[in-house]
Amino acid sequence: MTEEAKKPSMYDNVLQQFNKTADRMNLNPNIRRILAITNNELIVHFPVKMDNGEVEIFTGYRVQHNNALGPYKGGLRYHPTVDVEDAKALAIWMTWKTSLAGLPYGGAKGGIQIDPRNYSLAELERITRRFTYALGDNIGPELDIPAPDVNTNAQTMAWIADTYMSTKAPGERSQNQHVVTGKPVGTGGLEGRDRATGFGVYLNIRLLHESRGETLEGKKFIVQGFGNVGYWASKFLTRDGAIMLSVQDAHATLYKEDGISVDDLYEHSKPRKGSIQGFDGAPEIDPADFWGIECDILIPAALGNQITASNADQIKARIVAEGANGPTDNAGEKILLDKGITIIPDILCNSGGVIGSYFEWLQNRNGELWQLDEVMAKIEKKITEVFHKVENKVSEEQVDWRTAAYMLAIGRIETAYIQRGIFP
Ligand code: NAD
Repeated sequence: MTEEAKKPSMYDNVLQQFNKTADRMNLNPNIRRILAITNNELIVHFPVKMDNGEVEIFTGYRVQHNNALGPYKGGLRYHPTVDVEDAKALAIWMTWKTSLAGLPYGGAKGGIQIDPRNYSLAELERITRRFTYALGDNIGPELDIPAPDVNTNAQTMAWIADTYMSTKAPGERSQNQHVVTGKPVGTGGLEGRDRATGFGVYLNIRLLHESRGETLEGKKFIVQGFGNVGYWASKFLTRDGAIMLSVQDAHATLYKEDGISVDDLYEHSKPRKGSIQGFDGAPEIDPADFWGIECDILIPAALGNQITASNADQIKARIVAEGANGPTDNAGEKILLDKGITIIPDILCNSGGVIGSYFEWLQNRNGELWQLDEVMAKIEKKITEVFHKVENKVSEEQVDWRTAAYMLAIGRIETAYIQRGIFP
């Protein structure tokens, strides 16, 4: 067995975190059994005609973990690492996240095992539409509502919504627009959904500073991932006077002692499929040096399992704000906690996205249109409320932030099961 194969998977991590919390809160054993499994795991294989006329077969996934609190909800990811085990872990995290935020949703996740950079836009459109068709009525506006994730965006959601709606009778089509969230504003999308996740990451960091009697002015941060989450979080942080020292993506790692311009880097990356490589505003450094940079805040906003026993020791930040889902594995987390680093856990830190998605879903369902300032105010109110709930739990129970967030999230689902019982 290789070293790589021995590493705990994201699924191992999520189950360990769940078991630790279940022990700590004395979770009802029947509910523990239910929450430890995923309800449905769908794998679809589908053919798509490529630009050169050849047919390629793709594999897509959708895992639905739990729907005790409402329809399944969670992103679709296009990445070579997507498989059923990762989708299971990510679906479970979504259940905790929607529950913690007090939303009427359960958790799901899925995607296609591809590197989208290898395909043209027209091919990606056909792949997305054919995947949607293959999922059929396993998704739906009151059943399972996908959203953007790694390498998918508002355009992807527009294709899914259009394909799904096209399979319905003409009189029913418009009632199905909320089958996905994260759509473009002109196609039923919500003003501000694009920035909702990054804004939530920033807000959680700001609230933690406020609780400590500090501001963001002059605070130094480093960010892994300069996609939707990394970009928007960095933009809001620098607006409040924080300094972006370093940024790493799949192609390069940049470092500049007096700070990197977020706007200039964004303009550079836009025509390069999001890549930060070749930016003349900051020199490249060795990617391995990223984790050990002296800073106040580290934001992992790329993929899972990035902070592990192999690099956690090097981390100098006082706060790790998890923009990504599952970026810290359990061994890495123990090292960070022992060093006195506060981890704002993913299910709290990046919940702005699903909160924004909920508002989009409500807006579509009720035929309403909300303005950007209204939306941002609603997201801020919701995140602030959840942040303080978790903060209080941390001090009441004397536990770390992840355990506190899990206790609240799982406690809400436990209450729902106890109130309504198990069918039949
Ligand atoms: P994205 O596709 O817009 O950006 C991903 C970024 O990660 C890119 O900059 C890419 O280059 C970088 N990256 C990929 N592999 C990398 C590697 N090996 N090393 C360093 N960087 C790498 O994706 P996103 O929507 O910003 O999502 C990022 C993370 O945030 C994911 O974990 C996702 O699940 C999570 N998340 C996203 C949302 C959302 O609304 N988009 C909501 C909640 C959580």
